[in-house]
Amino acid sequence: HAKHHSTSKYAIFDSKMQMDTLIRLRLENDLRAAIASSQLKVYYQPIVCLKTGKIKSFEALVRLPDPKKGLISPGEFIPIAEETGLIVPLGEWVLRAACQQLRQWQIQGWIDLNVSVSVNVAGQQFSQKKIVNLVQQILQETELSPKNLRLEITESAIAEHLEWVARRLSQLRQMGVQILIDDFGTGYSSLDRLQRFPIDTLKIDRSFVAQMTSPDPNSKFVEAIAHFAHSLGFSVVAEGIETVEQKQLIQHIGCEYGQGNLFSPAVDVATMTAFIQRNPIF
Ligand code: C2E
Ligand code: MG
Ligand code: MG
Ligand code: MG
Repeated sequence: HAKHHSTSKYAIFDSKMQMDTLIRLRLENDLRAAIASSQLKVYYQPIVCLKTGKIKSFEALVRLPDPKKGLISPGEFIPIAEETGLIVPLGEWVLRAACQQLRQWQIQGWIDLNVSVSVNVAGQQFSQKKIVNLVQQILQETELSPKNLRLEITESAIAEHLEWVARRLSQLRQMGVQILIDDFGTGYSSLDRLQRFPIDTLKIDRSFVAQMTSPDPNSKFVEAIAHFAHSLGFSVVAEGIETVEQKQLIQHIGCEYGQGNLFSPAVDVATMTAFIQRNPIF
C-alpha cells in the first residue's frame, strides 16, 4: 500500500464532509416529503402507574420510514427538523395523529377516560403565535378532551424561548392540558423559575435512571429530584426503566410513574391496539 499524501487526506476529508451534507440534505428532503404525504409513523410507549401497574398515558414517538433502513429514529432527524424549521409542521402532524389515535382507542372501548396521550413539543412550536389556538382546534377536531392531552417540553426549549413558552403554556394549562418537563436534570433550569412555571409533572431523564444499580449512593440524585418535585406539587415520571431493580428503587423513592423497556418499548399502533384490546385499561 502506498502511503497517503497529505493532499489525498484532505480529499478524503472533503468527500466525507460532502457525504455528510448529502446525507443530511436527503434526510431533510425525505422528511419534508413524509410530512407532506402523511408517511411519518407514530409509535406509542406506555407510562405506567408504579403502584397499580395501570397504564396512565401513552407517549407518542415519531419515526421516519425509509425504504432501505426500515425506520429512522427521531434522534437522527429531529435535530435536522429543528434546524430547518420542519419541526413545526412535523410537530403539528404528530399532535393531530396522537389525539386522533387516543380518541380512537376511547371509542373502541379499550381505555377509560383517565388515560392520556403525551406529545413532545419543540421550543420552536411555541414561537408560533397560533400554538394555543392550534392545540384547541386539534382537540375539537379530534373530539378529545383537553385533560387527555399532555405536552412534553424540555428544559432547554423553555430556556431558549422563555417569554413565549411561559405565557402559552399557562394558556394551555388553563384549557386543561397538562404540561410535563421532559429529560429533567439534563438542562439548566433554575429551580426558582421551575417553581413559577405552569407545570404538572417532571420526567426524570433516563441517564439518571440508568445509573441506579444499587440503593446507595446512585439513587440519591433521583431521590432529591423526586422530593423537590413533590414539594412543588409536581408528580414524577422516571424514564428508561429497564430492570426490576431500577423499578423497585424508583418506587421506593416515591416516583409515581415509570416508563421504559421493562414495561414496554415504543411500539406501532397495530401492536399497541392488539395489546389494549386484550388488556383494556379501566
Ligand atoms: P424523549 O421524549 O425523552 O422520549 C423517550 C425516549 O427514550 C424514546 O426514544 C424512547 O424510545 C426511549 N426509551 C424509553 N424507554 C427506554 C428504555 O428503557 N431504554 C432505552 N434505551 N430507551 C428508552 P425515541 O423514540 O428514539 O425518541 C428520542 C427523542 O426524540 C425523544 O426523547 C424526543 O426528545 C424526540 N422526539 C420523538 N418524537 C418527537 C416528536 O414528535 N416531536 C419532537 N419535538 N420530538 C420528538
Ligand atoms: Mg418525551
Ligand atoms: Mg424524555
Ligand atoms: Mg429523553
